Amino acid sequence: MSKVIVIGAGVGGATAAALLAKAGHNVTVLEAHVYPGGCAGTFYHKGYRFDAGATLAGGFQAGGPHDVVGKILGIDWRVHAVDPAWQIVLPDRTITRWGDEAHWHAELSRVFADSHDVSAILRMNECLERISDVVWDFASRRPAWPPSNLAQLAQAGLALRPRTIAALPHLFQNAQQWAEQVGARDRAFTTFLNAQLLISAQTTADKASALFGAAAYDLPRKGVNHVEGGIGGIALQLVDAIKRFGGQVLFRQEVVKIETREGRVSAVHTNKGLRAECDICVANLTPWDLARLLGDAAPASLQAETRRRADEWGAFTLYAGVDESVAPSCDHVQVVADYGRPLGETNSIFMSFSMQGDARRAPPGQRALTISTHTRLADWWALRDHPGAQQEYDDRVAAYSERMLDNAERVIPGLRGHVHLLLSGTPVTFRFYTRRHKGGVGGFPFTSLFNARGPWTGLPNAWLVGDSIFPGQSTAGVTMGALRVVDEILQFL
Ligand SMILES: Cc1cc2nc3c(=O)[nH]c(=O)nc-3n(C[C@H](O)[C@H](O)[C@H](O)COP(=O)(O)OP(=O)(O)OC[C@H]3O[C@@H](n4cnc5c(N)ncnc54)[C@H](O)[C@@H]3O)c2cc1C
Repeated sequence: MSKVIVIGAGVGGATAAALLAKAGHNVTVLEAHVYPGGCAGTFYHKGYRFDAGATLAGGFQAGGPHDVVGKILGIDWRVHAVDPAWQIVLPDRTITRWGDEAHWHAELSRVFADSHDVSAILRMNECLERISDVVWDFASRRPAWPPSNLAQLAQAGLALRPRTIAALPHLFQNAQQWAEQVGARDRAFTTFLNAQLLISAQTTADKASALFGAAAYDLPRKGVNHVEGGIGGIALQLVDAIKRFGGQVLFRQEVVKIETREGRVSAVHTNKGLRAECDICVANLTPWDLARLLGDAAPASLQAETRRRADEWGAFTLYAGVDESVAPSCDHVQVVADYGRPLGETNSIFMSFSMQGDARRAPPGQRALTISTHTRLADWWALRDHPGAQQEYDDRVAAYSERMLDNAERVIPGLRGHVHLLLSGTPVTFRFYTRRHKGGVGGFPFTSLFNARGPWTGLPNAWLVGDSIFPGQSTAGVTMGALRVVDEILQFL
C-alpha cells in the first residue's frame, strides 16, 4: 500500500483520489477550501446554492468518463439529463441545441433555412457529428494521450480502428478551415460555431483543433446533465467514495510547499503546519502553481514551461437569486450580443438556472442563476495590483455586471426587477477561492492534438491532474485525465 497525497479536491483531484483509494492505496486529499469541487463547486450564500463556475455536466452517457468512474467506484450519480441542452441567442435568431438528433437536425434546417449555405451547414454538422463519434470511440479505449513514452505511443496505436481513418484528413486542420472546405461560411453559423467552441474548447474555430472541436461541438448529442443540489454534487459524491475506500479528505489545508528528496516528492506542507509524507503526489494544480509550490526544486522543464505559456482565460461571473417566474423554458442560455465584436468580455455570456424543483438551491419561488463570460486576466490584475486603482477596478466590475445584465435581459426582459441578491466574481475572486494562477480557468485552448499537455511534472513520482492536462476543461475532461493518470500510477507502483 503506497502513501498518496492529492493536492486539491477539484473534480480531477477527487476522481484520481477515489480511484487510487479503491485500488487499495493510503490516500489523503488536502484541500485549501472548505468544500470540494473548485471551479465545479457549489457555494452557499444567504439561502442560495450557486454553481461557482461549471453548471452543466457531460460525460454521464454509457461509456462516458463519469459513467466509467461511477461504475468502478459504485457511485449512483445524482444527475438529470437536460434536453434541450441549451439555447444560443444570436443577434437575429435563436438556436435550440437539442440532444435528440432528429430534433437537432430539424432545428438546424429551420434556423438556417434562408442562408445560401444551408446545405453546407447541414453537411458540416453531419461531418462534425460523424468525426465526433470517431473521436469518442477512440477515447473510449483510454489511450494515454499525449504519450510520455514509446509504450504509451504503442498503446495509442492499438486504440486505432479502421473507422479512425475517417479522422485523419482533419488531423492538422482547425475547425474553421474545415467549415470553409465544406462551404459553411454563413456569418451566423460561424458565430454559432465560435460560441460553442469557446465554451468547450477555450478557443474559437479559427484556432480550435478540428478533431477536438468536433467532440466538443457535439456535447449536447452525447448528453448533458443537471446535478442535484448543484454541480458541486459531483465532487461531494467523489469525496464520499474516497472515504468509503478508506481515504481521507482534509479541508482548510492549503499546501504551501512541496518538499523533494533526491529528485522525488517526499512530503507536502500546509498552511496549518501539517507535514504529510508521501510515495506518490497527485497535484490538482496548474503548472504555474505546481512550480510555485516546488520553488527551487521545480524541474527546469517545468520552470521553462511556466515562462513560455500564455495565460489561460479568466471568467467574470454573476450569481443572482431570481424569481422562478422569470426562468426561461431552457435552463441554460448562451447569448451573443453583437456579431461585430469578439466573443467574451460580456459580448457572449452563458446563463444557467438551477434545476426546477431543486429546493436546495434557492428559497421557495426562486432559482439560483450563474452568468459567466470569458475575460482576459491581465487587465483585472493590472488594476488589482496598482495601489491607486481600486475605484477603477470597482468601476470595471460594475460595468461588466451591467453589460451582462443587459445581455441577460435580451432573453428575460425586466430581469433586474426580479433579482433578490447579486454577487460578482472576477479572476481575482477565482484566484482567492481556487488558488489557481492569476485566477485563470478552463485549461489551455485546444489548438492541436500535438501540443496537448500530458500529466508530466518532471518528477518521477508526481503527476498533474485537472484541466491543465489533456483533454482539458470540463468535469468530463478532467475525469478522463484522472483515469489516465491513475492507470499510469498503478503501472508505476
Ligand atoms: C465560469 C466557468 C464555467 C464553466 N462551465 C463549465 C460547464 O458548464 N461544464 C463543465 O463541465 N465545465 C465547466 N467549466 C470548467 C470546469 O469547471 C473545470 O474545467 C473543472 O472543474 C476543473 O477541474 P480541476 O480538476 O482542474 O480542478 P479545479 O476546479 O481547478 O480545482 C482545484 C482544487 O484544488 C484546490 N487547491 C488549489 N491549490 C491548492 C493548494 N495549494 N492546496 C490545497 N488545495 C488546493 C482548490 O481549492 C480547488 O478545490 C467551467 C469553468 C468556469 C470557470
